[in-house]
Amino acid sequence: MANAILAVILPSRGALSAASYELLGAGRVLADALKQPLLAAVIGGNAATLAADIASRGVDRVLVVEHPSLSNFTEEAYANAAAAAAKISGASRVILPSTVVGRAVAARLAVLLKAGLATDVTEILPSGAIRRGCYGGNLIAEVEFKTGIAVLTVAPMTFPRTEPKGSPAPLEAVSFDPGTAKSECLSFKAEESREIDLGAAEKVVSGGFGLGGPEGFKLLFNFAHALGAAVGASRRAVDSGWIAYRHQVGLTGRTVRPKLYVAVGISGQIQHLAGMSSSSTIVAINTDKDCPLMQMASISVQGEYAELLPLITDEIKRRKGHTAAA
Ligand SMILES: Cc1cc2nc3c(=O)[nH]c(=O)nc-3n(C[C@H](O)[C@H](O)[C@H](O)COP(=O)(O)OP(=O)(O)OC[C@H]3O[C@@H](n4cnc5c(N)ncnc54)[C@H](O)[C@@H]3O)c2cc1C
Repeated sequence: MANAILAVILPSRGALSAASYELLGAGRVLADALKQPLLAAVIGGNAATLAADIASRGVDRVLVVEHPSLSNFTEEAYANAAAAAAKISGASRVILPSTVVGRAVAARLAVLLKAGLATDVTEILPSGAIRRGCYGGNLIAEVEFKTGIAVLTVAPMTFPRTEPKGSPAPLEAVSFDPGTAKSECLSFKAEESREIDLGAAEKVVSGGFGLGGPEGFKLLFNFAHALGAAVGASRRAVDSGWIAYRHQVGLTGRTVRPKLYVAVGISGQIQHLAGMSSSSTIVAINTDKDCPLMQMASISVQGEYAELLPLITDEIKRRKGHTAAA
């Protein structure tokens, strides 16, 4: 009889991320709802060194799945490792973060475990049923599982991050046999970037098709640097090749929930709103005062971006004590 919640911790290049702590926050809500213990499985080439941190954050037991074959991420190996941990734990629910990696592992894991699957969970009900947005956030689906075991991915910035508290949970090593893998990571080259991470940013400045081309994005980047904000984009701007996909906000991009979201030249189609409508304060800059984003924004500024952005950027720099040329 399955009777535990298992949070699968997927380190990013050997380090824990904020998503891991949010996952434990979601796991705690689910564990309390179903009155089952909360276990965590840390997977990776250095899982044992990361496990102590996880063990200090209110979990009941930590499974450590460490193996040299897990040093570099492949969907196949990580899904097999998560399945090994799920089987040992007797989990009724296995939860992962709704990151690119988490979603990829979740799909394979659900197949391996013959489990039900729900992605991008935003709410856990006292009954253990979950809610998730669908059709670009137009509908909220309530999902109950008919399978004894279910795999969930948890939407980013939705559940509170756990803090270290109490005495650490016991650790348990899980033996993992990678078998004959069909895929292998031969090398990894990190992208060199000094950009602020979109997912964790408190301020996001996004540009859309209204910027007219890559030149418009240069003004947007200047504005973002002055403000100390991460840069986002609409899909139409990404599809036009003006900015890389990693900046895309929305249904098929990143979900952000900053304190301040500034949308420049973005009309506000439902698929874009799906990724940013939970931002605390939304500012829209657009020539069309009637477009959806201008209508839903906390502050709407009607005008040409090419005139407004340099003025706003210079004013921010002036107030921060820089000269306009700095
Ligand atoms: C399955 C699916 C998934 C999708 N996923 C996403 C997603 O994840 N993210 C996403 O963003 N979209 C997504 N889309 C696309 C979405 O439907 C829209 O096409 C897209 O968001 C439009 O981008 P935009 O607002 O930049 O462009 P437009 O809708 O063309 O809007 C451009 C805006 O710029 C304004 N403008 C023009 N000139 C200026 C100027 N000089 N100064 C100021 N403003 C100006 C215009 O008034 C207009 O409001 C998806 C679509 C589908 C079907």
